[in-house]
Amino acid sequence: MDRKVVKFGGSSLADAAQFAKVRSIVLAEKERCYVVPSAPGKRFSGDEKVTDMLYACYALAEKNEPFEEVFSKIKARYNSIISELSLTVSLDEEFEIIRDMFMKKAGKDYAASRGEYLNGILLGNYLGFDFIDAAKVIFFTESGAFDAEKTNTVLSEVLKSHEYAVIPGFYGANPDGSIKTFSRGGSDITGAIVARAANAAIYENWTDVSGFLMADPRIIDSPKPIQKITYSELRELSYMGATVLHEDAIFPVRQAKIPINIKNTNDPSHPGTLILDSIDDKDDTSAIITGIAGRKGFSSVLLEKDMMNQELGFGYRVLKVFYENGLSFEHLPSGIDTLSVVLEQKAIEGKEDMLVKQLYEATGSDKIEIEHSLALIAVVGRRMIKSKGSAARVFAAAAHCGVNIKMIDQGSSELNIIIGVAEEDFEKAIRAIYDAFEN
Ligand code: ASP
Repeated sequence: MDRKVVKFGGSSLADAAQFAKVRSIVLAEKERCYVVPSAPGKRFSGDEKVTDMLYACYALAEKNEPFEEVFSKIKARYNSIISELSLTVSLDEEFEIIRDMFMKKAGKDYAASRGEYLNGILLGNYLGFDFIDAAKVIFFTESGAFDAEKTNTVLSEVLKSHEYAVIPGFYGANPDGSIKTFSRGGSDITGAIVARAANAAIYENWTDVSGFLMADPRIIDSPKPIQKITYSELRELSYMGATVLHEDAIFPVRQAKIPINIKNTNDPSHPGTLILDSIDDKDDTSAIITGIAGRKGFSSVLLEKDMMNQELGFGYRVLKVFYENGLSFEHLPSGIDTLSVVLEQKAIEGKEDMLVKQLYEATGSDKIEIEHSLALIAVVGRRMIKSKGSAARVFAAAAHCGVNIKMIDQGSSELNIIIGVAEEDFEKAIRAIYDAFEN
């Protein structure tokens, strides 16, 4: 059987009605063997996520302040799911243990992880699936990094004895057995880890949107959905701020070449977005560009020096200064006698004078200038390599709407073209580029 691993986000499991949708999705296909739930999310805008309530509750416990009020709100969230679905399980004993552990200051990660843990117990009961505590199968190293190999060995062995199971997302265990969580949104990572260990045919990631859109809907009116995207393209877009999936969720499945399908719990028949290792050219009928994303808040440090191109080690000396100041750079566009180092503005704010001084000393440049408030826009598309004139279209679009391009960087993979513009031109440029390719 081609097994599927299905992960449901917080809004997909926010209340009893959402649980019912999840159940019908899971039971619709017998291949949907392993289910990874998040904690209950927001039921309506302005509502609280259980994870946030757990953090808030624990913050009180840590300061020895009364936390019963928040704690009972958390209990009420789960108990209403139990009663509305007439589940045969009670969490009363679990709540007692959690309260006790809060008093013993079991840690912020322990506290946050209980959202997924409790939801996993409920979902397992509702689906008639086994429950596997993630602390028994997901491991971190002494230094706090995810222990991929140990996890894969133990988890794949454990899964062999469970045909159908629920494994809560977001957390695992440190070598001493204490609980550690991934970063926020980390249930996506758990889903990917389980997919790898189960050698799944597909990792379905169920959320509240029908996959990725070609551009940010806050900037573009109803952008087209992305049907297929490669892992590499997704990396480029998520680096630039497109968020639907946790960035680190790609690695475990990418290694095993398992496709990810982003699906909408509230619209299950929509195909969503399929993320693949590669997309065969001959059946690729997608648009030339896959997506556009961007971010504000960059600075560029421009260095000019006559005959720079002939000077051995110029780039080395420049980057050494950045390295020694603990500054990591994002892009490095260069001309014959110029080199720009593009990095996050907040990293160099307040350090400008010192940096310029050190750079003059290290490089003997003729001119060094820092420009703040830049936005970077990435136009990403695996098909750009094959189609002539994509770069020209990007630049013409910017020119037509009167946007000055301050930097150009075509990634060596030819998967993307990155341009730098003034922050105030950001939205205008994205709209113009989107129109150039989509109309
Ligand atoms: N519940 C956790 C969070 O809110 C993890 C997740 O939902 O993926 O970040």
